[in-house]
Amino acid sequence: MSKVAIITGAGSGLGQATAVRLAEEGVNIVAVDVSEKGGNETVELVKKLGVESIFIKADVSKATEVKKYVDETVERFGKIDYFFNNAGISGSGKFYLDTTIEEIEQIVGINLMGALYGVRYVAEVMLKNGGGSIVNTASSAGVIGQDSVVTYSATKHAIVGITKSMVAEYAKDGLRVNAIAPGPTETPMVKAFYEANPEMKANATGGIPQKRLGTPEEVAELVTFLLASKAQYINGEVIRIDGGFTNTK
Ligand code: NAD
Repeated sequence: MSKVAIITGAGSGLGQATAVRLAEEGVNIVAVDVSEKGGNETVELVKKLGVESIFIKADVSKATEVKKYVDETVERFGKIDYFFNNAGISGSGKFYLDTTIEEIEQIVGINLMGALYGVRYVAEVMLKNGGGSIVNTASSAGVIGQDSVVTYSATKHAIVGITKSMVAEYAKDGLRVNAIAPGPTETPMVKAFYEANPEMKANATGGIPQKRLGTPEEVAELVTFLLASKAQYINGEVIRIDGGFTNTK
């Protein structure tokens, strides 16, 4: 029986690339996004690879909508094997004292609450079925401190906490929960961020030992390895994928 993956933020960037890579492994894809255009585009892309796929429109910052995407997945596919808990936003890139309370609440709502609600409802279904595998999207800013991203960094450090503590509670029941910590990766989010803050792009690339940004396909390869390979003894890890960036800080 084919495996089933839920991917949040599936309509773009890391989510879309991972949907395609998992579909190459024959995994059916539930694409969750606020963007109908992006979500439907991903569904079309993966269907061409021969898997079943549906789009569910949901704002992950709302618990009721998270419950809805989990319930609809179970209704349609009967189970959840893999969960890429990935939807997120970067924020404006301003220094903390220049950010508004609205921006702080928005970043926390999507990046932190969205991730917490996701593991809350998805893990419940997985554990009823004997387990499953979750990958949460942290960031370089989740393992080191950086300027201009204080709220973002706070939410991504929290992703690390969710990952490790879920393992402490549920690994014994068959749950694997890992996190990825990508450095700057060429997705629409990063392109938009660097267009708004051009000086930060030169700084970022210069600080990366490999002297280039990552690609969504490289990240998708790692997520697919963590979710769907035979490497079943990796648990609670936070894996950096950043061209050597954070390890040389
Ligand atoms: P992206 O903007 O290309 O894609 C993010 C997707 O999430 C979009 O399709 C967007 O519509 C969706 N989304 C945004 N808010 C949502 C919400 N409230 N509910 C549901 N969907 C929502 O960005 P990306 O670069 O692919 O980022 C994906 C994840 O990777 C984010 O968590 C981001 O913080 C993280 N990340 C990205 C990089 C990078 O350099 N690109 C580095 C480290 C971490």
